[in-house]
Amino acid sequence: MSKVMAEYIWVDGQRPTAKLRSKMKVVEVAEVRSLSELPDWSFDGSSTYQAEGKKSDLMLKPVRFIANPLKPGTKDILVLCEVMNPDGSPHWSNTRAPLRMVAEKHASEEAWFGMEQEYTLFEGNRPLGWPDKGFPAPQGGYYCGVGCDEVFGRKLVESHAEACLRAGIKLCGTNAEVMPAQWEFQIGPLPALEMADELWLARWLLYRMGEEHGISATLHPKPVKGDWNGTGCHTNFSTKSTREPGGLKVIEAAMEKLRVKHEAHIQVYGAHNVERLTGLHETAPITVFRWGVSDRGSSIRIPLGTANDGRGYFEDRRPAANCDPYEVCRIMLETVLG
Ligand code: ADP
Ligand code: MN
Ligand code: MN
Ligand code: MN
Ligand code: MN
Repeated sequence: MSKVMAEYIWVDGQRPTAKLRSKMKVVEVAEVRSLSELPDWSFDGSSTYQAEGKKSDLMLKPVRFIANPLKPGTKDILVLCEVMNPDGSPHWSNTRAPLRMVAEKHASEEAWFGMEQEYTLFEGNRPLGWPDKGFPAPQGGYYCGVGCDEVFGRKLVESHAEACLRAGIKLCGTNAEVMPAQWEFQIGPLPALEMADELWLARWLLYRMGEEHGISATLHPKPVKGDWNGTGCHTNFSTKSTREPGGLKVIEAAMEKLRVKHEAHIQVYGAHNVERLTGLHETAPITVFRWGVSDRGSSIRIPLGTANDGRGYFEDRRPAANCDPYEVCRIMLETVLG
């Protein structure tokens, strides 16, 4: 078939938490080989919290495309887009454009990001595999567990990881999390824009593949109240100078820059994060900034390997699962390199 089905994907205007939207466009070529072959498109912004009804047309500008891993044997693709105003300027909801500029400005520092996307699988209004009434056994045996009494949704998790790899997304691992039906995949390490784009695409694939299984994934930071772990998106960060000998000193200096910007970071680290950053369940309280080596009760953890080697990366544990990776990467670059 000399036509390609291109799924145009974009981030909408819902706040406090943006969601993904997509629609399919038939592109009349045998294979899309470069972005320039993908036309800009438009959509009804009044249906996505991005415009008023009277002036509702907004533009979709393709910025990255990957093979659609759900359509093996075809040339069909997934197309990530930025949302633009009719005059071609970035729309207010387009958080990628500011990251693009900041990343460009600091390109010589060779910053890398890796994000650990946690999520919770739901069937109807209950976490997958939870009893109809009451609760499963308390946490303890579920993290990285095995067996159908402790692990729910692995089939979807494994197909998702495979799909990401087939599409060329740099997924680097998955694990079952502390709360049953809670999972994680990791993306990276990659430069900011690539990592954040691939994370949004991996989220889209997770939701889309969930449709096949009748399972939805939520990124709410505290999907079940009480003595159950929240859901985060730990953000790992390094630069050329933190990865070089003496890098630990550079990381320690970064900690002081991050300390004075704590509130500004929390502002863009996801909605309802106050329910998650309590000081319990491997978090520091939302009002506190503290860092430590190997300390999972800190805001920022320096992995043991980094401390031992005297160089490497650090892990910001504050971002919630529902954060916008464009905003998280932007503020990290501004604070540490700005
Ligand atoms: P954790 O022990 O916190 O659960 P994970 O193995 O889940 O760690 O995730 C580690 C993350 O760190 C991955 O997303 C990976 O891409 C990222 N990472 C590894 N090395 C670097 C680096 N040098 N710079 C930035 N991120 C990195
Ligand atoms: Mn219509
Ligand atoms: Mn992890
Ligand atoms: Mn985790
Ligand atoms: Mn982590």
